[in-house]
Amino acid sequence: MARRRLSDRQKQRIEAIQQRRRQRLEERAQQALTTADADSPREGVVITRHGQTLVIRGDERSLHHCLCRQNIGHPVCGDRVVWQPMPSNQGVVTALLERTTSLARPVYSGEHRALAANLSQLVVVLAPAPEPNSYLLDQHLIAAEGMGVSALIAVNKKDLFSGEESAAFEQAFGHYRDIGYPIVWVSAKYEHGLDPLIGQLRDKTSILVGQSGVGKSSLIKALLPDIKIQIGRLSDASGLGKHTTSATTLYDLPQGGQLIDSPGVRSFRLGQLDRPQLEQGFREFRPYLGHCRFADCSHDQEPGCALIEAVGNGLIAPQRLIHFRHLAAGLPDL
Ligand code: GDP
Ligand code: ZN
Repeated sequence: MARRRLSDRQKQRIEAIQQRRRQRLEERAQQALTTADADSPREGVVITRHGQTLVIRGDERSLHHCLCRQNIGHPVCGDRVVWQPMPSNQGVVTALLERTTSLARPVYSGEHRALAANLSQLVVVLAPAPEPNSYLLDQHLIAAEGMGVSALIAVNKKDLFSGEESAAFEQAFGHYRDIGYPIVWVSAKYEHGLDPLIGQLRDKTSILVGQSGVGKSSLIKALLPDIKIQIGRLSDASGLGKHTTSATTLYDLPQGGQLIDSPGVRSFRLGQLDRPQLEQGFREFRPYLGHCRFADCSHDQEPGCALIEAVGNGLIAPQRLIHFRHLAAGLPDL
């Protein structure tokens, strides 16, 4: 469906419908709370959402399907919450705990709606085909910096690289390692060389992002050999039928760490950023920011620009500054 702007009246109508829905849900949650054990609030993590039902994992790792109080915000996958147990593995979520990070996308009202919370790492997947796009890579890295999560580059389809092509890739992308983004080479198809990636995922909550066709779904299958079992458990726990992989879901990695996955999360794009946010998004620019001759330097062609100088001295990759200028000018693609 074509994206279109909603008129104010349409927005008001949607708001009114949503308001009534929230009211009904709040009544249901309050009703449920009368049967809940009010003395035993517990902490848990949102594993997924199933319509209005949240699947919460409690401390003892069991899964519970929960209604949600409506005045606490909008818990999403990865959120830590307080919930009160009810009979038969159900419960009511009564509080949303503070998020360390959130991955958000703009919604029709222009606000940002969280897709996932408490991520700690973004894994940008590249491959020899489709051809790696460093402009998109930079946008993902900027998003990671903006969220305050670490980022890592996973080069998939290692089996398709000839020696020469690997060298060319290294030439084009090796500088990302120098500025603190680890690069690991993997082959999801042959489940080859996954260990360095598995090592980087341990102790973190990660998501995979990247162009369509680079092998994100294949990697998820390779990293989560028991994904069907995990999905089966969620279907049982939600009590609402089959859980689908299109819902944003938190999975446990067998060797430690967690993956948050959904098609929406995989394909999220960088939102609108102001200039300072954009400057901070290029991590190797930071030592030079504030050192240009002009305080309002656009790092375009001004004399005394510290960033241009750093490029001249081989301290910043030229392409990164080009991408910065392009994004600062608000141009969508390169
Ligand atoms: P996604 O769109 O990023 O989720 O990519 P998919 O996982 O659907 O993979 C796209 C295509 O690349 C499929 O045809 C996969 O079989 C293929 N593919 C994925 N990983 C590898 C790999 O390591 N080596 C090779 N040769 N092909 C792969
Ligand atoms: Zn400058």
